[in-house]
Amino acid sequence: VTAVVHAAWTAAGSWAPDPDPTLLRPGTCARCGEQPAELARVTAAISKLFTAFDGWHDPTRPGLCHPCAWAYRDPTLRRHAHLVTTTPNLVQLTAASLADELSAGPIASDTALIVPLRPGRKHLLPEARWGAVTTDSATIPWTSADSTRLAAMTRLRDDGFGTRMLRQPAPAWQVLHTRPTEHWSRILADWAQLDAWRHRPPWLDLGLHATTPSRP
Ligand SMILES: [Zn+2]
Repeated sequence: VTAVVHAAWTAAGSWAPDPDPTLLRPGTCARCGEQPAELARVTAAISKLFTAFDGWHDPTRPGLCHPCAWAYRDPTLRRHAHLVTTTPNLVQLTAASLADELSAGPIASDTALIVPLRPGRKHLLPEARWGAVTTDSATIPWTSADSTRLAAMTRLRDDGFGTRMLRQPAPAWQVLHTRPTEHWSRILADWAQLDAWRHRPPWLDLGLHATTPSRP
């Protein structure tokens, strides 16, 4: 199976650095272990402060293949949610299309999602896996039960509950009392649906991010 990074790189047009005397040739990619004819220097792709070498094939090697180098260099990958498929395809997601993807059911085994929660902070694509969602804190599976919980959270947002309130174990009275009493049992049922996420911060944070009303 093609790696997520390589599929995304192919879909994005197979970026390569300009010919440059510092390119190494040939060699072994420090991150993925492939042995291309030409590699870029690791130091050209990542900053001196980079520490996320977990999972690298051999961090002592000096070069990265072009797909791996691109995965660290492309700034839009760090700023916006993206969907990658094995097709290969790479799609930048708007807030609305991210919510649609997560509402539609489990993430398929030929699909990977990356969702920066604090845009620009972390490199997510290198952590991505097929059939999973990668956020700043973790790479997690996403099931149809999670889609159902997301729908409950969306209804609660429509009721007027904000992000801080949705983290709490019970609905805030200041909003609940503004809702018609015939809605209360549905609100409490929706709230109970989110209990499964309250002890799983990566899911809760992703749900809160995906349901945040977009600013005008
Ligand atoms: Zn590589």
